[in-house]
Amino acid sequence: ADKYHAVLADNRRLHNEVQELKGNIRVYCRIRPFLPGEDRKNTSIESVGDDGELIIANPTKLGKDGNKTFIFNRVFGPATTQEQVFLDIQPLVRSVLDGFNVCIFAYGQTGSGKTYTMTGPNSPTEKDWGVNYRALNDLFNISLERKQVIDYDVGVQMIEIYNEQVRDLLSTDGIVNTSQPNGLAVPDATMQMVQSTSDVLDLMNLGFSNRAMSSTALNERSSRSHSILTVHVHGLDKKTKSTLRGSLHLVDLAGSERVDRSEVTGDRLKEAQHINKSLSALGDVIFALAQKSSHVPYRNSKLTQVLQTSLGGHAKTLMFVQVNPDASSYSETLSTLKFAERVSSVELGAAKSNK
Ligand code: ADP
Repeated sequence: ADKYHAVLADNRRLHNEVQELKGNIRVYCRIRPFLPGEDRKNTSIESVGDDGELIIANPTKLGKDGNKTFIFNRVFGPATTQEQVFLDIQPLVRSVLDGFNVCIFAYGQTGSGKTYTMTGPNSPTEKDWGVNYRALNDLFNISLERKQVIDYDVGVQMIEIYNEQVRDLLSTDGIVNTSQPNGLAVPDATMQMVQSTSDVLDLMNLGFSNRAMSSTALNERSSRSHSILTVHVHGLDKKTKSTLRGSLHLVDLAGSERVDRSEVTGDRLKEAQHINKSLSALGDVIFALAQKSSHVPYRNSKLTQVLQTSLGGHAKTLMFVQVNPDASSYSETLSTLKFAERVSSVELGAAKSNK
């Protein structure tokens, strides 16, 4: 009985913690460190405040004239560890076990650290694990703690959206039709039930190798498709027999870099147009939600259709906005941060006057 009350109290605490996030969009900016071989002297990052303030500097303008200030819910500087990032989002992740729908995105140009944040580097050790491994590990740990009270089933789907077509990464055969998304992320994509973090590791390896098989140049292709790992949770309260459903979508978006139309043709141009269209559709949806607009334009891309039931309403959305610190990336960084500023509900004026 004590255990039962402890779990209920814990539930209530988490519930309160996440209540304020409901329907809101959180935007976390993460700046990746310089990599070996990159020139550290040429950076566009002027300063990182611990209050969510980021100042970037235009390398072609001397002095403060070229500075621009942004405010987000958080800014993680280059020394931030994977563990620190996860600790910040843990309450959000855990709310899935209370029946919430949560979407976590990584947005940014190719090479800015999206995959690092969501998954980790290639062949990660436990300390390098990204959000998706940590989230699943945490969900399993908490569901074990609650075992006497609530029985949880956890199912996983993994899909990729490339040129507005959806591929099931956990199946071996081809394109999955998603013309009628109806509650589940992709009704006819393979759903694998998992019992432990190691089951998940196995599945994710399968998903990643399926993704790799679809292309001779993995990095090229994977930066031009969106990948979505979805965790479905079903809980049964052993005492009251009431049930709950929650879902967690972990989305590694295609690279946001603008492609020079005069330089690409054919397949590359088509890809670029699809990416452009879906990222702006995503921006429009999140913007409409943040504005509490009565019309939310979900229909404009596969990405927003697939995520429709998990964006808006009582769902919670977090966007990691990834930044490459190199000065040569300044114009992409600026457009990334402008995208983020548009979807963020934090207002520059409001944050300043709170100081
Ligand atoms: P993207 O997914 O945006 O294309 P990646 O996640 O592949 O970018 O990151 C590009 C490179 O930078 C990779 O080699 C990755 O391991 C490295 N990297 C990114 N973020 C970090 C970080 N926070 N710490 C250490 N290395 C990082």
